[in-house]
Amino acid sequence: MNSVIVVGSFNVDHVWRCADLPAVGATIAGQYATGPGGKGFNQAVAAARAGARTAFVCALGDDAGGRLAREPAAADGIDLRAEASGQPTGTAGIYVDARGRNTIVIGAGANGTLGAAHVTAAPELLRGARVVLAQLESPPAAVEAALAAAREAGATAMLNPAPANAPTSAGLLRLADIVTPNETEFAALLSRHVGERVEPEAVAALDGASLHAACRKLLPHGTVVVTLGAVGAFVSHAEEDLRGDAQTYYRVAAESVSASDTTGAGDAFNGALAAALARAPEQPFATHVRYANRFAALSTERPGAAPAMPRHDEVMARFG
Ligand code: ADP
Repeated sequence: MNSVIVVGSFNVDHVWRCADLPAVGATIAGQYATGPGGKGFNQAVAAARAGARTAFVCALGDDAGGRLAREPAAADGIDLRAEASGQPTGTAGIYVDARGRNTIVIGAGANGTLGAAHVTAAPELLRGARVVLAQLESPPAAVEAALAAAREAGATAMLNPAPANAPTSAGLLRLADIVTPNETEFAALLSRHVGERVEPEAVAALDGASLHAACRKLLPHGTVVVTLGAVGAFVSHAEEDLRGDAQTYYRVAAESVSASDTTGAGDAFNGALAAALARAPEQPFATHVRYANRFAALSTERPGAAPAMPRHDEVMARFG
């Protein structure tokens, strides 16, 4: 039985590290690396390494990229539920400059064909599931089906609303028990669903009461966790959704680490939060957020996204 079900994308990441990002019309040199990625896959790896029995529902092409997903998933003990797609496996072209800034092009490919039916086709998959975690690199119908199926099965429906420019309907948000935007995604959701404008860079500096008020308008019934990079995370609960916490809103400070690559920090946080929640749902939510901060902090000390995910034992050894 899997306790965490991740529904989302798998991409073959093609990464070029260059001195500068390529300008229009330019041809430049860069150091190339490739490997498995995609928000769904990264979060599944994080959940598995954080100790949860994890299934990953995705769509893969019948090609080398699709085969690339299987070995690392198996290595982390992930129950891979891949829908065969007529499209090529998803790809991401990532350019990173010497300052760590990036430009990314995604070819959704097979990810764009993930169907609602695939998510709901295996009822045994959801039996015993405690958390279902989805992102927005998959078709809205598949994400909605995942969240709805979670609720029907009595599991927690968790939505990481990333990337920021993906469409989100009010109906989609209503299906989520927990929503976990970063600052950019939070600003995008506020503008789209509440009609309030805030610059992403200003989110971390907002006072708690203002942030809480904005979160309540965004998700009146549930819990919002805004990740704030090196600052940590802000949690806002509805009164009826305190999840064992004493306060309706609070911040959890990030761990102080020597971060060298924050790629995939959000994925680390989400996978670890889902795993912690699935492991001990009766514990105060704040303890799960602290664990997710620790797990994500360790992931920033290593290069890459999925390969950088630490293991539960390492998190415990470092932070106790
Ligand atoms: P994203 O990767 O989606 O932009 P964030 O930048 O908000 O997400 O990072 C997610 C989480 O990763 C943070 O809430 C924090 O726990 C951790 N994190 C990110 N950057 C750092 C850092 N420099 N030091 C410590 N923890 C970090």
